[in-house]
This record gives sequence, structure tokens and C-alpha cells, in this order.
Amino acid sequence: MNRIVVITGASGGIGAAIAREQARQGDTVVLVARRVAPLEAAAQECGSGAVAIPGDATRREDLHQVVRESLARLGRIDVWINNVGQGITRLPSELTDADVDAMMLINLKSALYGMQEVLPHFRERGQGHVINISSMLGRIPYATFRSAYCGAKHFLNALTVMMRDEVQKTHPGIQFSLVSPPAVRTEFGAHALHGGPDSRSLPNTQSAEEVARVVARVIETREPDAYTAKGSRDRVIRYYASLGEPSSADS
Ligand code: NDP
Repeated sequence: MNRIVVITGASGGIGAAIAREQARQGDTVVLVARRVAPLEAAAQECGSGAVAIPGDATRREDLHQVVRESLARLGRIDVWINNVGQGITRLPSELTDADVDAMMLINLKSALYGMQEVLPHFRERGQGHVINISSMLGRIPYATFRSAYCGAKHFLNALTVMMRDEVQKTHPGIQFSLVSPPAVRTEFGAHALHGGPDSRSLPNTQSAEEVARVVARVIETREPDAYTAKGSRDRVIRYYASLGEPSSADS
């Protein structure tokens, strides 16, 4: 389609799979991550037009630079995908201030910086699409040892919806979408803060390529909210339905 698609966290896992899928569809992809060698290898798999820009998404100035460099080299950005994220393995009763800060920085602020840095360009054009990669854990608190990650992804979900509400009042052509995968067979578990189970050894996981195909659909349809696995939406509905009626004190 020849869109310009920027993907953060694209040196491996889901981000690299999204880059490959979009390149296969004819888009020009810009891959962002910290480790230069795997980043360049991932970009090479996307063909000669792919651009690799080393950067740390937890540093606002790095994402500012990604926007500048993408515009200088490619002239515009059509889709910006905030895919960077990291898990944690620590029980709620043992969480430290540093644990909570780290989860907010990598899972929430990285996306906030991405959205805020690309927004002036999207506003100028009156169009653009931000896709934030969330998680089923952003919807349902079900893995005790991931609570701080779960909280950061819940915040990301709320931020995405409210950013959309704000921006679309003046710029209805700018969309913000959430994509929520269940466990995916990547290095996510191995990369989690304080170690923990390897996502590749868990049952009932998806492949990064399956997630990338759903992201490709979201780019086409611009749907605001997507799950990547069958049954996820019903699982969320069942979870919230099971919480019972609100009491009068909640209103
Ligand atoms: P991986 O750990 O396999 O890959 C993470 C990628 O992000 C790597 O390319 C890494 O490269 C990059 N990255 C990490 N930190 C930064 C940073 N500060 N700045 C720039 N790049 C960074 O994870 P996944 O691919 O599995 O996860 C991708 C997204 O999907 C995350 O948001 C995650 O929360 C979400 N998700 C994952 C699930 C899973 O089970 N795998 C389930 C549900 C959601 P480098 O080290 O080179 O920077």
C-alpha cells in the first residue's frame, strides 16, 4: 500500500513480525529499538526500503528524533505503532517503588512519548493512525506476578481512549487503536524484569506472526479496539459480568 509505518520495539518479537508483515504488504517500515545489530538484521528482513533507527523509547528525545529522521528521509508518517513493552515477575506484596516506576516508564510513558511526538505531524496533515500494543493483562488482572505490568497496560488502555476523545474533537481523521494479545511466543518472558517463565514454553500461546496479521487488519480497518485471539473479547465480558452489580456507593 506504500504507507509509512513506524514501529517501536522492532528488533525482535511482535515488533519485528509487524515490520515484516507490513513490508510484505508494500509499506515502507521504520524499525526502532535499542540494540543496533538485531535491529539492522530485522530491518534487512523487510527489504531494501526499510529504515532502522536506533533509539530508546523511554527517552522522549529519542522518539522526537525518530519523528524528525523519518520525516526527513520519507516525507511523512502514516501509522505509528507503540509496541515497546516489558513484563515483570514480582508479587504485589513485594513490589518496590523502582518496580512500579520501571513498569510505568517502559509500558506507559514510552507510548505517551510516541503519541505526543508524532501528534504535531498528524495534526498538521489532519490524518494519521496510532496503534498501541496492549495486552489481555491490560483488560483482566489474572497473572499475580505481573501486577505492575498489568496496571501499566490498564493505564495505557485508558490513555489511548482519552487521547482519541481529545484529538478527534478537532481532528477526526486521526485514529488511536488498541491491540490486546494473550501470551505470545516471543522473548517477552525471558526479558521480564526479575526473570520468570519463558513465554515460549507456556501453553495456549499465539505466534508473533498471528498478532502481526491482526495489526495489519487494524491498519486497514482503523478499528479502535482489537483482540488478537478468538474468545478474548468474550473472556473480558465474562470477567466484568462476574464482578456483580455496582452498589449505590459506587455511583
Ligand atoms: P520482546 O521482549 O520479545 O521484544 C521487545 C522488543 O522491544 C525488542 O525488540 C526490544 O529490543 C524492544 N525494546 C525493549 N525496550 C525498549 C526500549 N526502551 N526502547 C526501544 N525498544 C525497546 O517482547 P514482545 O515482542 O513479546 O512484546 C511486544 C509488545 O507486546 C509489548 O508491548 C508487550 O507488552 C506486548 N505483549 C506481549 C505478550 C507476550 O506474551 N509476548 C502478550 C501481550 C502483550 P531492544 O532490546 O533491542 O531495544
